[in-house]
Amino acid sequence: MSIYEEFGVTPIINASGTVTRLGGALMSEAVVAAMSAAARESVPIETLQARASQIIAEVTGTQAGLVTNGAAAALTLGAAAILARDHLGRMERLPDTGQHPCEFIVSRDQRNGYDHAVRAAGARLVDVGYNEIVSGAGVRRTEVWEYEELISPRTAGILYVFSAGAQPSLRDVVDMAHAHRIPVLVDAAGELPPRAHLTEIPATGADLVCFSGGKALGGPQGTGILCGQQSLIRSAALQMLDQDDHWSLWSPPAHFIDRTRLPGLPRHGIGRSMKVSKEEIVGLLTALRLFVSRDPAEQAALCRRRLHRIREGLADCPCECRWDEPEHPEECARLDILLRGGRASGAAFEVAGRLRQGHPPVYVGHGRLQENTLVINATALRDDQVDAMISQLRACLR
Ligand SMILES: *Cc1c(COP(=O)(O)O)cnc(C)c1O
Repeated sequence: MSIYEEFGVTPIINASGTVTRLGGALMSEAVVAAMSAAARESVPIETLQARASQIIAEVTGTQAGLVTNGAAAALTLGAAAILARDHLGRMERLPDTGQHPCEFIVSRDQRNGYDHAVRAAGARLVDVGYNEIVSGAGVRRTEVWEYEELISPRTAGILYVFSAGAQPSLRDVVDMAHAHRIPVLVDAAGELPPRAHLTEIPATGADLVCFSGGKALGGPQGTGILCGQQSLIRSAALQMLDQDDHWSLWSPPAHFIDRTRLPGLPRHGIGRSMKVSKEEIVGLLTALRLFVSRDPAEQAALCRRRLHRIREGLADCPCECRWDEPEHPEECARLDILLRGGRASGAAFEVAGRLRQGHPPVYVGHGRLQENTLVINATALRDDQVDAMISQLRACLR
C-alpha cells in the first residue's frame, strides 16, 4: 500500500512535470537514503549550511551559497540580504525598510506571481518598460537605458527573471547596474537544465542567483539554492538561521559568517519562518552532486523513451501526437496531444478533467488546453506508470 493511501490520499500519475502543485520532482533512491540517514543524527545547522555553502560555491563558481526553503524563499532571503546587508538593526526591522532604499527595478515583461517572494522582504517593485509584444502594440522589449533611467537614491537592487528569451541580456543589465553599484538578484528557479546554467548564470556577474531544488535538480520539493556574493550570503544566512545562542559562545565557520564583521548576534530574522531541515540540506546536496556528475543528456533520453511508448500506445486514437522539441538538448521533449474537434470545442478541458477523476488519477500538462492540446511532460513520470497512463488516456480519448 502506498504511504499516501495509508493516510487516505490517492497518489496520482504525474504527466505534468516537476510542478509544485503535484509534489515537485521524484527523488532518486540515493537522495532518499541520504535524507533518511541524515534524520538519525544531530548536527548544528549552521555548520551544515557552511559546508553546503562551499559545495554550492564549487558547483556554481560563486563565492558562497545557502540551501533555502525553495527558490521562492531564496528570492525573499536574497532581497532581505540586499536590503539589510550587515546592518543588524535593518535586519531586525524588515520587512519595514524605514528610510533606507527599498526599490527593486524589474522589467514589466518579467513580472510574475513570484514577485510576492521579493516584496515579502520589504522590497517595493518598480516596473520598467512595457509589454508591447504581448499587448500587440509594438515590437521592442525593455532596454538597458530604461533601467538606468529609473535608478535613484531609493534603488536597492534589480530583480531579473532569467529565461531563454529574456531581454535585455542579464550580462548587459548587470554591467549597467554595477556601474551604479546596484546589485542584481536573479530568479533562475526553473532554468535547469541545461546543467551549464549552474555556472553560466552566476558568471554574468549577477550578485545573487536563485535555483529551485525540487524541480529538475531532483532534490527535496521544499528546497532551493541561493548563491553569489559572500557578503550577501552571510546576510541571508544570518536572517534565516536560528539565532538563539550566546555571543560569547557563537562560533560560525568564518568563511560562511565572519563574526568579526558584526557588532553582535542578531535576533531571529525575517527568514526564520523559512527554515530548512538537516534532512533537506543533505538531500539537496546529494541531488546536486548527482545532477552535476551524471550524463546531462540521460534524463532527456529517458523522458523521450517514455513519450515514445505513449505515442505508440495512442496510435489508433482520435488525436494527433506532435513532438514539442526543447530549446536545449539536455531539456526533456514533450508530447503534445492534439484532440480532434477544433480549438473552440473545449474537448481538452473535458478530457483533462476526466483524466484527473480516473483510477489512478492522471494529471497532464494544462498549459495549452485552450488550444485543444494535452501536453505530456515525462520528467516526473515513472517507467512503471506508463502503461496505466496509456490505458487512462485511451479510455478518455475515445
Ligand atoms: C518554480 C519557480 C519559482 C519557485 O521555486 P520553488 O523552488 O518552488 O520555491 C520561482 N520562480 C520561478 C520563475 C519558478 O518557475
